[in-house]
Amino acid sequence: MKDTPKIELIKQILEESGEKTFRLAQIRKQIYQSSAASFDKMTDISLGLRQKLSSKIPNLLSLTVATTTNNTNTQKILFLTANKHPVETVFMDYNGHTTICISTHSGCPLGCEFCATGKMPSSKSLNVDEITDQILHFVKLGKRPDNIVIMGMGEPLINPDIFNVLDVLTSKDYFGYGQRHISISTVGIVPNLIKLNKTYPQINLAFSMHSPFDEEREKLMPINKAYPLDDVFSALNKHVKLNKRKIFVSYIMLKNVNDSDSHANEIARLINKQGDSKYLFHVNLIKFHKYEQSIFTPSDNEKIRRFSIMLKRLGINNTIRKDFGEEIKGACGQLAGSK
Ligand code: SF4
Repeated sequence: MKDTPKIELIKQILEESGEKTFRLAQIRKQIYQSSAASFDKMTDISLGLRQKLSSKIPNLLSLTVATTTNNTNTQKILFLTANKHPVETVFMDYNGHTTICISTHSGCPLGCEFCATGKMPSSKSLNVDEITDQILHFVKLGKRPDNIVIMGMGEPLINPDIFNVLDVLTSKDYFGYGQRHISISTVGIVPNLIKLNKTYPQINLAFSMHSPFDEEREKLMPINKAYPLDDVFSALNKHVKLNKRKIFVSYIMLKNVNDSDSHANEIARLINKQGDSKYLFHVNLIKFHKYEQSIFTPSDNEKIRRFSIMLKRLGINNTIRKDFGEEIKGACGQLAGSK
């Protein structure tokens, strides 16, 4: 695997200083697996080396905190990259069980019609440090999250570094997370779903569907032109057969757009086509968070309830997600603009 940019720089400094090779592993462990927030705190390395590293790399993190918003069980942080691109992260704590929702982009180039992130004026793919430092921020506070969900700003599977990020999350030399503690939400980027099936089959998936009709979905989510629903379901079905765990199908309920009986019928038809795996597709019905400039409004609660009952009658497991933390874990595009 490729080292992170941060570790590459440290490697270079160690080589220039004539340090023994084992030092790198020692420092990498201190950075990714301890709460030591600066080189000064890494007392198992010599004072001279600590001072040299501190002067060349004054900040261990590539992100700075711009604002923090606390709710009952959630903390939302707006980070800024070195170039001042905004990056949103949410840390959730439910009775000591912690999950972090991280972003892979600042903004998102896919431009889904209902999505606040997709409407941001510019977008940038974050690099490996900018993505994993969202987690490192909490590790340094002594709050290593139990689970990682990659569902914040941006579509993870179009980030060119996403597989390096997964290497860093799972490598014992870095964070050392088990695959089953990681979840990715995707709009269905088929080639990378196929690659994920081969390289990280145990990672949990959520699929952002939002319409069961290709023609309508293309209007809501232009990426559907490249990857229509049948192709996406075929890749998802392979994943579910490999890891035998639920795939969450996210469905943001938009009033008079995708909340009719015919939508429920078509969702059921698509999922019931998945054969033995169909019971592992679980639909999450998510209330839309209206933001300024949005042309969409949320479906009424009663409509959502009826939609859910209809899906159940058609044999489709589903849940209405009400809680903010649950919603942002459910689909990308629910983070930007949420309070
Ligand atoms: S819904 Fe997801 S993929 Fe679509 S624009 Fe928003 S962040 Fe990007």
